Amino acid sequence: MPTQLIDGFGRVHRDLRIAVTDRCNFRCTYCMPVEGMQWQPRSEILTFEEIERLARLMVERYGVDGIRLTGGEPTVRARITVLIEKLAALGVDLSMTTNGTTLQAMAHDLRAAGLNRLNISIDSLKRDRFAEITRRDGLAEVLAGIDSAVHAGFDPVKLNVVVMAGVNDDELVDFVDFGIDHGVEVRFIEFMPLDASGGWNNDLVFTRQQILDVISEVHPLIEVERTSAPATRFRLADGSGQIGVISSVSESFCTTCDRVRITADGQFRNCLFANDETDVRALLRNGSTDDELAAALERSVAAKWAGHEINQVNFVRPSRSMSQIGG
Ligand code: SAM
Ligand code: SF4
Repeated sequence: MPTQLIDGFGRVHRDLRIAVTDRCNFRCTYCMPVEGMQWQPRSEILTFEEIERLARLMVERYGVDGIRLTGGEPTVRARITVLIEKLAALGVDLSMTTNGTTLQAMAHDLRAAGLNRLNISIDSLKRDRFAEITRRDGLAEVLAGIDSAVHAGFDPVKLNVVVMAGVNDDELVDFVDFGIDHGVEVRFIEFMPLDASGGWNNDLVFTRQQILDVISEVHPLIEVERTSAPATRFRLADGSGQIGVISSVSESFCTTCDRVRITADGQFRNCLFANDETDVRALLRNGSTDDELAAALERSVAAKWAGHEINQVNFVRPSRSMSQIGG
């Protein structure tokens, strides 16, 4: 029996992202179309029991040791702490990416349920700009949510900032300073073609190199050794903190990728940019055995491509938005 979820290029997959809902209380310009987003019917969304069965199989059979809950906005899924308790019992490094709006009310409960780490998304520190990007006047809630996460004992708390040229590229140093002041690590993410509205184009990508050039003028940086994690990390030379840069577009990290995904409606994806999905919801609901389920996962991972082809003629933008795939 195989003990690794391994692809044809020898990459072993131990990192699972689970989108627990496609619903969201924001509509970020870079993630969702302005109109036409229809939430999937409840009956199509995996139940907690189905998610737990799948996660347990992947942990016990393939040594998956990291699970991140995402969405849509994971904290709007009802009784999310119940799922966290189930997954925490598997003994994995359990984390969540959230827009932070609900954390004032929920941070302590999430922590008590067994969540280890939090990433909070925030793309501007200016109220009007934040509202334009997210289509909701929610900056104050998110800032309070960051404080609540720190007070609840999450360590580290990381901030995700999607950098878009001409939109928020003038705030990079402000974000680094914010990170230093609040004791949180800021990760700058290149804008990826996953907005599903056709708004992405290469001119909107503020690249890793541009990000580093701007920041290092004020805060000299020292690169920290690269791991399978998507972010390249840099220490601030004066020792006041560190930052990360996720360069999916300009310098992809596909050769070291160890990540697979489950969408809220139970589709298994071997890559963020994949055009094919494996319908594990159908297998979970038609009485398939664990061996049958495992065989489907192995087939999917075995067929994983070498890497995405953004900026090449062959690239086909996924038809689903980031909020549906689970970023
Ligand atoms: N709603 C939660 C949030 O915003 O953190 C979790 C889901 S969101 C899809 C996960 C992450 O994907 C967020 O950090 C978001 O900023 C990022 N993201 C969404 N669309 C993106 C895009 N087109 N390019 C780069 N990052 C994107
Ligand atoms: Fe919602 Fe997160 Fe997408 Fe923004 S990035 S629309 S908060 S899922």
